[in-house]
Amino acid sequence: MTSSSSSSPSTSDAETLRRSRILKSKLYLDVPLPKVPIVYSASYDIAFLGIEKLHPFDSSKWGRICQFLISDGALDKKCIAEPLEASQDDLLVVHPESYLNSLKSSANVARIIEVPPVALFPNCLVQQKVLSPFRNQVGGTILAAKLAKERGWAINVGGGFHHCSGEKGGGFCAYADISLCVHYAFVRLNISRVMIIDLDAHQGNGHELDFAGDRRVYILDMYNPGIYPFDYEAKRYIDQKVEVMSGTTTNEYLKKLDEALEVAARMFDPELVVYNAGTDILDGDPLGRLKISPDGIANRDEKVFRFARERNIPIAMLTSGGYMKSNARIIADSVINLSQKHLIDMGKNGA
Ligand SMILES: [Zn+2]
Repeated sequence: MTSSSSSSPSTSDAETLRRSRILKSKLYLDVPLPKVPIVYSASYDIAFLGIEKLHPFDSSKWGRICQFLISDGALDKKCIAEPLEASQDDLLVVHPESYLNSLKSSANVARIIEVPPVALFPNCLVQQKVLSPFRNQVGGTILAAKLAKERGWAINVGGGFHHCSGEKGGGFCAYADISLCVHYAFVRLNISRVMIIDLDAHQGNGHELDFAGDRRVYILDMYNPGIYPFDYEAKRYIDQKVEVMSGTTTNEYLKKLDEALEVAARMFDPELVVYNAGTDILDGDPLGRLKISPDGIANRDEKVFRFARERNIPIAMLTSGGYMKSNARIIADSVINLSQKHLIDMGKNGA
């Protein structure tokens, strides 16, 4: 397939339009210094007439992560960086208008987020209660790359919708925040090499399809091949594929990760790492089917941060999948571990 640098007139027109949309966007806002690159807004969390309880799902995970960080004294509430909601124009950077129009059908949204009763609600309500929180998280992922470039690292407390490509949503992912974030980084951060390290339990077929054959993006994906999405076409676009079978335990997992990071470092020299840090690899997760301990997750995140920070590569982490009640605490503990190991500084570094 042609790369985005192809010279056919229609491709370059589309590229010009994409650039102008990115340059006009308000999502790259300035975050003043007392604030730290932990990105979150209360508008991330989903509460929808109790419907959210029908999904096997902690839909206030994002707020709870922040609450734990604050109550543990690791983060000051006033220091959280708040993103803006991605607008229609922002989303058109990767999504065709026809895709965004398809979200005006509640039945279609219900299919994408796998909550069938959502089909019964008027679309204005679905937009406001479900899609708007996601669009805020998209704004957060895009802002996280900018902050990572400025501060060395950033964590979007939400985002990581790695099953959504420009053309198609699925698996709880309605917007392609990772693809958007990378395109924004190309234009606004003036970089041309991005590494996506996707360690969610599921294969990240959305960004894989979006960057198929694009040599500016190196994708390391470590996932369980025995679960959703079984996307064999997208697998062809993974630069380094590490398949971990159901039942894989912590030591085996971390050993494979060490090897994979070593290979990645030899193969590619990124100017930005986008780290999709799904915690559905946790032992007991009904979807991920892996057996990684909470300490193993902290260890994993530490390895990836060490990889980027030791090489002075800006790293933007997204929290992605893993929605059991226990995940928020485990993510907060892992972020605190990063701080204790001096891989990040949340402004309270006696902690
Ligand atoms: Zn997942």
